[in-house]
Amino acid sequence: MEKTWEVAFSEDEKRLILREYRRLLRSCGLDPKTERPLVRKAFRFALQQHQGARRKSGEPYILHPLAVAQILVKEIGLRDPHAIAAALLHDVVEDTSIEIEVIETQFGSTVARLVEGLTKISRVESPLDSSQAETFRKILLTMADDIRVALIKLADRLHNLRTLSSLRPEKQAKILAETEFLYVPIAHRLGLYNIRTEIEDLILLHRDPAAYEAIKQKLQETAKERTAYINRFITPIEEKLKKELGIPYKIESRIKAISSIYQKMQRQGVPFEEIYDIFAVRIIIDSPPETEKADCWRVYSIITQLYRPNHNRLRDWLSQPKATGYEALHITVMGPEGKWVEVQIRSRRMHEAAEYGLVAHWRYKESQKNGQPSPYDEALERWLARIRSLLQNPDLPNIDLISELRPEIAQDEVYVFTPKGELKVLPHGATALDFAYEIHSEIGRHAIAAKVNGKPVLLSYELQNADQVEIITSERAQPTEDQLKIVKTARARQKIREYLKQQRKEAIERGRAIFEWRLRHLGIRPDDAIIRELLWYLKLPSLEELHYRLGTHQIDLPRIQEFIRLKRLSHGTSSIVDQLREKLGILSGATEIGHNDEPYNYATCCYPIPFDAVMGYLSADGLIIHRTICPHLQKLLSLDSSKVRPLRWTPTPTKQFLTALRLEGEDRPGMLLDIVKVISVQKRKNIRSIRIEGHGTYFQGIVELWVYTEHDLVSLIQELEKVRGLLKIERQLSPAIV
Ligand code: MN
Repeated sequence: MEKTWEVAFSEDEKRLILREYRRLLRSCGLDPKTERPLVRKAFRFALQQHQGARRKSGEPYILHPLAVAQILVKEIGLRDPHAIAAALLHDVVEDTSIEIEVIETQFGSTVARLVEGLTKISRVESPLDSSQAETFRKILLTMADDIRVALIKLADRLHNLRTLSSLRPEKQAKILAETEFLYVPIAHRLGLYNIRTEIEDLILLHRDPAAYEAIKQKLQETAKERTAYINRFITPIEEKLKKELGIPYKIESRIKAISSIYQKMQRQGVPFEEIYDIFAVRIIIDSPPETEKADCWRVYSIITQLYRPNHNRLRDWLSQPKATGYEALHITVMGPEGKWVEVQIRSRRMHEAAEYGLVAHWRYKESQKNGQPSPYDEALERWLARIRSLLQNPDLPNIDLISELRPEIAQDEVYVFTPKGELKVLPHGATALDFAYEIHSEIGRHAIAAKVNGKPVLLSYELQNADQVEIITSERAQPTEDQLKIVKTARARQKIREYLKQQRKEAIERGRAIFEWRLRHLGIRPDDAIIRELLWYLKLPSLEELHYRLGTHQIDLPRIQEFIRLKRLSHGTSSIVDQLREKLGILSGATEIGHNDEPYNYATCCYPIPFDAVMGYLSADGLIIHRTICPHLQKLLSLDSSKVRPLRWTPTPTKQFLTALRLEGEDRPGMLLDIVKVISVQKRKNIRSIRIEGHGTYFQGIVELWVYTEHDLVSLIQELEKVRGLLKIERQLSPAIV
C-alpha cells in the first residue's frame, strides 16, 4: 500500500486526500474507540484498491468516495459508521477485482450487504439497452431492502452531478435521465428536500444551461429589491411575535430553487416576473411537541392580524401531514404593495424533519426515547411496504411503481411500455398513433392498428397508464388527413403534415401525367381555353387542384373527356347544343325515366346509362333516349329541335343497362383472361360481347357489358387500370365515332 501511495500521487494530492479524510472524521462525530476504526479501515482499503486510479478530470479517484461519505454525513445527516464505511467502499467491488466476500471478512456482514446493494445497482444501471422498467424495479428492490443503500446512492448521485464533467459524455446523458426519473422522486419520498433541490438544479444546469443562467441572473438582479421588501414585510411580524408569542422563534426567508422557478414558468407558461412566490418567509418556533401545533396556530393568528390571509391558499399539514410526512402550516397573506407572500410556520422538530427527512427523525428519536411516533417514519414505512409488496408481484405492471414514485406527474403524463418493456412517457390523452410516432416515424406512417395488452384497438385508442402497446403496420398504409384529428403530440402532427404534403405533391404529379397524356390524345393543349371552362364547370380553383383530384381518383377521367368532347361538338355544331342545354335547365325534372307511361327506348348508338346526361327524341317509334353528347342525336336535332324532351333519371335505378368500353394495350398472353377476370369475376358484371383485334404486339377491343349506373362503370374502369399492359380504357360513345 505504501508503495502505491508514494508512486501514484504528488505531494499536493496526498495532502488534499488526507485533508478530506480528516474533515470526514471530524464531521462524522463517531466514537473514537468503537466506531472510528471501521471508517479508518474502510478508507485505507479503498485508497489501496483504487490505487492510482483517476477520474476523467485527472483528480485521484479516492476523492470521489471521500466526497460521497461527506455528503452522507454532512448533508444527508446519516452518521452511521457502517454506512460511512460502505460509502467509502461503494465503488471498490464494481471498479476493482475485489470480491464481495473479501468485504465481508474484512468489514462484517452489514457493510458487505450495503456495498453489495450498491454494486448491484451500478450493475443493472450499466447496460444501456436493457429494459428501463426492469432496471428501476431492480434498483427499487435493492433500496427497499435497506434504506441506507438509497441514501448512499443519493450521495453518490449528487457528487456525480456536481462533477458531471469528470464523467464520459455518454455516461452524462444517461445519469441525467436516470436521476431525474428515479433519484429525484426517491429523494422526495425520503424527505431530503435540500438534496432533491440541488439535484434538480444540477439537472437543469446541464440540460438547459441558458435557461438556468437566465433565471440565476434575474434572481441576482432582483435580489436587492427583494431583500428590502422582505424586511418591510417581516419587521411588524417580529415586533408582534416578540410581544405576544412568549417562546423563542426564528424568521428566515428562502428563495425558490432555480429548477422550481423554471418548472413553474414552463407549467404555467409565464415569464419570471409573474412568478409570485419567488420567496417565502419561514417562521420556526422552539416549541415542545406537546404544544407545537397549538403554537403554530398562535403564530398564524398573529400574522393574520397584520396581513389579510388568502383562505384558498391555507395549507394545514399539521392536522394531516402530507403523504411524505411533511408537517407545517402554510399561509399566503397580502403583504405591502398588495403582493401575496407565503409564510411557512413550523416547529424546530418539524423543520429538521423537513430538511433532513427520515434521517433527522432517527436522530430525534434517539434523543427523545419516549417521543411520539413521527409521521415521517410512518409515511416512509407505509411507502416502503407498498414498494415491497408491489415488487413481490412479478405480474404487476411497472407503472404502479412509477406512479408510486411520481404521483405529482402521474396526472399530466401517461406511462406505457413497448413490447420489449421499454418505457415511453407521453402526454395525457395521447393515442396509440402518437405512440407509433414516438417509436419511429416510419412506424407511425405505416400504422394501421394497435394491440394494447394483447387486444386489438384502433389507432385513436387513448393510452392508459401501464398499457403495453404494440403497433400493427402495413407497407401500404399511409397517413391521412383524418389522422391529424386523433394525434395529441406535436411530433406526430408534424410528421403527418409532412407526409400529407409529400403525398399531395406525388398525387399532383400523377394527375398531371394522366391528364396531359389524355389531352394529347384529344389533341388539346394544356393552355387551351377549354381547360378554363373545365375548371369552372368542375368548380375547381386551379389546374393543380384538378391534377390533385385526378391523382387521387376523386374525379374520373371519362367525365372530363365527355365534357371536352361535348364542348368540341358544341363548337362544331354552333349553338344548337347550348340552346338545348338552356332548355334542359329550365325544364329539368319534367319527366322522369321509368316513371312515365309513355313508351320509350334506349338509343343503341350511344348506350346511355344512369346518370348520364340524356335527352329524349320523339321519333315515330316512340321516345328514344340518347346521351346529350351523342353525335347521332346532334344530327337529328339539327333537323327538328322541337321533338326534344328533357329527362331525368329515377334516383335508384333497378335495371341493368348495356354499355361498352373500348380497350387498347399490349397484346400479351393472358391479357384477355385478365380483362374478363376483372369484369366478370371481380366486379361481377355480365359481358354481352367482346371483340378483340390484334395488331402485332398491340390490340384494340370493345367490350359490351351490363351495369346499373355510371358509378359501376367508373369503379370497373379503375379496376381495369390496374391490369398490366392495358393502356387505354374508355367508355365507348358510339360506333359511329370509333
Ligand atoms: Mn460512485
